[in-house]
Amino acid sequence: MSANHSLELNHGRVVDYRIRTSPRARNVRLQLSIRDGLTVVVPRNYDHRRIPAIVEKKRSWIEAHLRRFTDISGAVDRRPAAVLPETLELPALGESWQIEYRLTNTRVVGVIIEQPGRITIYGAVSDHDACREALKRWLHLRTREELVPWLARLAEQSGFKFNEALIRGQKTRWASCSSKGTISLSFKLLFMERDWVRCVLLHELCHTVCMNHSPRFWALLGGLEPECRAIHKRMRDGWKRVPAWLEEWGGE
Ligand SMILES: [Zn+2]
Repeated sequence: MSANHSLELNHGRVVDYRIRTSPRARNVRLQLSIRDGLTVVVPRNYDHRRIPAIVEKKRSWIEAHLRRFTDISGAVDRRPAAVLPETLELPALGESWQIEYRLTNTRVVGVIIEQPGRITIYGAVSDHDACREALKRWLHLRTREELVPWLARLAEQSGFKFNEALIRGQKTRWASCSSKGTISLSFKLLFMERDWVRCVLLHELCHTVCMNHSPRFWALLGGLEPECRAIHKRMRDGWKRVPAWLEEWGGE
């Protein structure tokens, strides 16, 4: 997890950027998007001290693109692109996937993993809604496979008990805990940083013994992970990291 990097632009503007390590990256590359802002993607084991100079060298490119973004962002907000993704980055799991769409003669649209790091969506892939739904099902599955056991491990380590874990795709909540000890996790957590997700899981586990956000709750959570409160604040903007193609789909 890395935050608080920034580059000073002309006219006193400052652009914040985050650094993401990608096992697939061979070189440093910059990504700019309206939703996520500036991201510096670096190969594994890359010396982060070299990054500021690289970003500095790309200053005019960044400024030009940011200008274009401000020009078109109004239009984009009104009519978001419904384009299907070609890659899926899941920081929570440290995974990066390429997506291939393969038109086949099956009526259903399904997802298979034929090789590591590559998702194949097959079937009537011209039906974009069906593709989105298939990808969403797959994200649910990955959440169940990875985040639920993680939650169970944390519960065991910290001496909490929860009843069951459900996966949801709530629009406004990362997770919740019912009075019966059912913990719901949003699959959108997959797009968050790993230590952020850990804090969310610990937060919900604390709710199994303290349902409100009283000082007692924060003391309990702070005792498990002192950084949680600061991380929760940072996560308020976390929704921006959920890919647009997923957010627009009004299936939830
Ligand atoms: Zn809470």
